[in-house]
Amino acid sequence: MIAEPAIQALLPKWVVPVVPENEVLLNTAVVLQGERIIDIIDASELADRYPNATSKILPNHALIPGLVNAHGHSPMVLMRGLADDLPLMEWLTKHIWPTEQAFAGEDFVRAGSSLAAVEMLTGGTTCFNDNYFFPNITAEVVNTSGLRATLGLPVMNIPTIWAQDEAGYIDRGLKVVEETEPNARIGWAWAPHAPYTVTDESFVRLGDLSEGMDFKLHLHLLETAGEIDQSMAEHGSHPIDRLVNLGLYNDRLIAAHMTQLSDDQVAQTAEAGVHILHCPAANMKLASGFCRVDDLDQAGANIAIGTDGAASNNRLDMFAEMRLASLIAKGFSLNPVAAPAARSLSMATIQGAKALGLDADIGSIEVGKQADLVAIDLDAPGTTPVHNVISHLVYVVSRSQVSDVWVAGKVCVSDGDVVTLDQEAVVRESIKWGLKMHSKQKDKSSI
Ligand SMILES: [Zn+2]
Repeated sequence: MIAEPAIQALLPKWVVPVVPENEVLLNTAVVLQGERIIDIIDASELADRYPNATSKILPNHALIPGLVNAHGHSPMVLMRGLADDLPLMEWLTKHIWPTEQAFAGEDFVRAGSSLAAVEMLTGGTTCFNDNYFFPNITAEVVNTSGLRATLGLPVMNIPTIWAQDEAGYIDRGLKVVEETEPNARIGWAWAPHAPYTVTDESFVRLGDLSEGMDFKLHLHLLETAGEIDQSMAEHGSHPIDRLVNLGLYNDRLIAAHMTQLSDDQVAQTAEAGVHILHCPAANMKLASGFCRVDDLDQAGANIAIGTDGAASNNRLDMFAEMRLASLIAKGFSLNPVAAPAARSLSMATIQGAKALGLDADIGSIEVGKQADLVAIDLDAPGTTPVHNVISHLVYVVSRSQVSDVWVAGKVCVSDGDVVTLDQEAVVRESIKWGLKMHSKQKDKSSI
């Protein structure tokens, strides 16, 4: 007979369940067993209802659902600060792609994904949606770190270390899915890079594959205005019209950026059920444009929040991103009630889960859901006094205030440190990669 997993009760000062939005529970125990939340009760009932439960008191803490980083390229943390303050295309074609060509093999991806895992976990992110070469290696890191992820299978018409042409990328993606041992915390998505790097033929094939395999289609879309001009010149149509004609503009599509929408396209996008992966820091850093968060939100579209890769952010910090999401939505729409704190928290949790098709299991603190939880210590001068804990979570809290993180009921961060990976070894390895990349750049400059 298999023993039942032990019951554990978390007793934080505040529980912010996210569903329903804007709710804060006091004197509440969140009861876990195995991977799941089995009960949410008044703390005074705990001893009677669960006499054998072990208790963890979190005296100055808010307990929130784990943050969902809805768009990123985790191994790119190794390129953090490598090329800043440049336009998107120059940044991408002259710096990022050549560096990837020189370095981005299995070892680079392992080191980068591990560093990203440490950065995300210690910052309260429990689930991330990724797109990078060697997703099989990132899957190994997800497996050991205890994180949850949807890993993109990259496709584009540019030869790289991962594949030579679109058919090669698709074959390699299929092989990764077939050969990776199934893990309940890992899902897959097809990840065509962008409309300007993927042909109609491959889009159609990926549409069929996504439907057949029940995967999401993860795409960079309308990141800059230049993308529209290029599409008109090359395909004679706007990228959205092209995707509509190819049968891909629907709720399977998870589209990063979306900074160039007309009024009609805001309504069309909400109606089609396309999920928006909003990356406020990256859009501002690359001066790409502004996602119309307030208009999309009012039209009923599902908006999630992502950091994008650390080469264009330069941090994987979902607390910073929530704050930016609220501030930019207000500043851009000139509407002070746009993206209130509770909505940005939803975008960073349940709405991210919904974009990934995981909202039945994660994204909120509800009975029956996976215990993906984050405790934040608010006992700091900058977060005192607490008039409104949700306001603090979005406008004030720093990721360094994250104390404990659980994913599927398992402790991944304790007292601010990752316990599932050797954090110091991960940092040491990343420093080595940094030195290797520096010396290569020096070689280039001396030629
Ligand atoms: Zn991106």
